[in-house]
Amino acid sequence: MRLFDGMTVENGELNISGVGVSELKAQYGTPLYVYDENMLVNQCRTFINNFKSSRFSTEVLFASKAFSCLEVLRIANREGLGVDVVSLGEIHTAYKAGYDMRRAYFHGNNKTREELQYALEVGVGTIVIDNNYEYEMINKIVRESGNTVDVLLRINTGIDAHTHEYIKTAKDDSKFGYSVYDETIYDLIADINNQSNLNFVGFHSHIGSQIFEKTSFFEAVKVVMEFTRRVQERLGLTISVLNLGGGFGVYYTEEDRPFELAEFLREYIEVVERESDNFGLDLTKVVIEPGRSLTCNAGSTLYSVGGVKKTFAGREYVFVDGGMADNPRYALYKAKYEAMLANKMNEEADATYTVAGKCCESGDMLVMDAKLPRAEQGDLLLVSSTGAYNYSMSSNYNRLPKLPVVFVKDGTSRLVVKGETLEDLIRQDI
Ligand SMILES: *Cc1c(COP(=O)(O)O)cnc(C)c1O
Repeated sequence: MRLFDGMTVENGELNISGVGVSELKAQYGTPLYVYDENMLVNQCRTFINNFKSSRFSTEVLFASKAFSCLEVLRIANREGLGVDVVSLGEIHTAYKAGYDMRRAYFHGNNKTREELQYALEVGVGTIVIDNNYEYEMINKIVRESGNTVDVLLRINTGIDAHTHEYIKTAKDDSKFGYSVYDETIYDLIADINNQSNLNFVGFHSHIGSQIFEKTSFFEAVKVVMEFTRRVQERLGLTISVLNLGGGFGVYYTEEDRPFELAEFLREYIEVVERESDNFGLDLTKVVIEPGRSLTCNAGSTLYSVGGVKKTFAGREYVFVDGGMADNPRYALYKAKYEAMLANKMNEEADATYTVAGKCCESGDMLVMDAKLPRAEQGDLLLVSSTGAYNYSMSSNYNRLPKLPVVFVKDGTSRLVVKGETLEDLIRQDI
């Protein structure tokens, strides 16, 4: 069980950035998402300060699908990050947060006409084209609008890095991007490059998520740059922008061994500079787009314990007042988390519990074998590292209202997303 920066123990109680968990419960109730604002800001700064080159400009985008709400976007904007958006809702949230939309990149494999029109209306700076079908539509809509927009083409390098190692597959079945091994890609690029309303600037590649092997990223840089050179040679054009995606792995449990971020980013830049020389490229901008690694460790979920139950077979459950509706990641892919009894931090963790939620699904689990002190009704249970893909993936399953989100900073807390009410739950019902 890891205590992150900003977590301290005072009289046996967990404090996050100087605010005790019992105080959070008294003020906002449980279940509750709690973010350490200093950690969020520090992660933004680590990216901005270390992904820097004297040779080309760099841009760090916040992949907002990891955690999209107005306040986190205001912070990312203030800290100088651009934003990656993939839907009408994500565009709208960034826009309403006051984002300079020229710094927004619109991703996705199936953008709709409505989304594209809205993106142009609010001035999204870059559209990332995924495929031919989409390209035709984007081209048409942009031409009709009379605007000009920067475009990148999403390429697929065949590097599959969803696991702890990368595998290079010549035949890639991913739904994203255009394979660099597909000969028809050159015609598509030439065609895009010929459109007067589309300003074709370069390529985008994202190789997966929760990746721990630096070599996966470095290998992808090589494949992208080798391809870029081939395109330049064959089509006689100059590529100026490469967006290398996100996917930097983070700590959830002791099984995860993330690299030191600042050091990695500096190394990453060196590799990009070196390979760009090797392949004779003349880049003006290199972009990355972290999501999980910006917000994951800053967020935790605070629950109250309802009861403890020992099954006939011997497994001991501790039941909390949330579950798969606020964190579906165990149910989705058996994601692992750490838990602590936040009001019993000094007690020995000599029991093994399965932390389960209150939803009507056997898979409604949060942590499989959590080492905790003896739990009882009324205890506060905290699951750490829930800051990415929790709030954004939450649902109203079993008609559970979505949780409030609170930011804490240096002894004070503030509500940044209100929890849903019962009225909210039936608001759209007719
Ligand atoms: C999801 C995604 C990201 C962010 O991935 P993380 O693993 O959260 O860093 C970046 N770029 C694209 C295109 C994505 O789909």
